Amino acid sequence: MEVIDKLSIIQQQIAEVCHKVNRDPAEIKIIGVTKYVSNDRTIEAFNAGITHLGENREEGLLAKWDLLKDKPTWHFIGSLQTRKVKNILDKVSFIHSLDRQSLAKEINKRAAGPVSCFVQVNTSNEESKHGLPPHSAIEFVKELAKYPYIQVVGLMTMAPFTDNQGEIRDCFRALKDIQMEIKKLDLKHAPCTELSMGMSNDFEIAIEEGATYIRVGTALVGE
Ligand SMILES: *Cc1c(COP(=O)(O)O)cnc(C)c1O
Repeated sequence: MEVIDKLSIIQQQIAEVCHKVNRDPAEIKIIGVTKYVSNDRTIEAFNAGITHLGENREEGLLAKWDLLKDKPTWHFIGSLQTRKVKNILDKVSFIHSLDRQSLAKEINKRAAGPVSCFVQVNTSNEESKHGLPPHSAIEFVKELAKYPYIQVVGLMTMAPFTDNQGEIRDCFRALKDIQMEIKKLDLKHAPCTELSMGMSNDFEIAIEEGATYIRVGTALVGE
């Protein structure tokens, strides 16, 4: 199926969930995750109107970036090694995986201006997943004040891969709860207005729970 057809199915699904929970579909941005697909398919996705693209590895990001340069808004969604920051920083508009002080320090050091970051939280408490444990997320965000170029635009999480919808929903709710706590603090460096959550299998639940960026690969561009 062409990307444009898959996109229209997903937009329909988004419209339906939004209607159900009384949200405006315009609040939800779709990040097309192109990590599984070819160069041609990536260009097709952009031409279909997907202007936010995401990659989870440095190599993939650099390769896909070359195709479309700065026309799309690029998101780095994977775990980021500190030594790789300098290679991607001028190419991406958002980093979704800020989860440690050393990474914040490096981003701040290499940045030429404010960098929009999502703090990644491991709401499922699965050991295999990256991100901060929920109980330390707020303290972590507070401490980021010492890095003038770090802007915490929001929080990011990955739900467990499971059929148990309740378990998935709990993860998204946990992220929303932390976001509310951070917003209450009214921190200049952490407006924290965004929630990056929801993938092919669970974006509808994520939207019900307040997602503003969903990261969709398989359902949108294919495997
Ligand atoms: C691969 C990936 C996605 C997209 O996953 P799909 O299930 O294919 O939609 C989203 N977020 C992150 C962090 C990923 O690594």
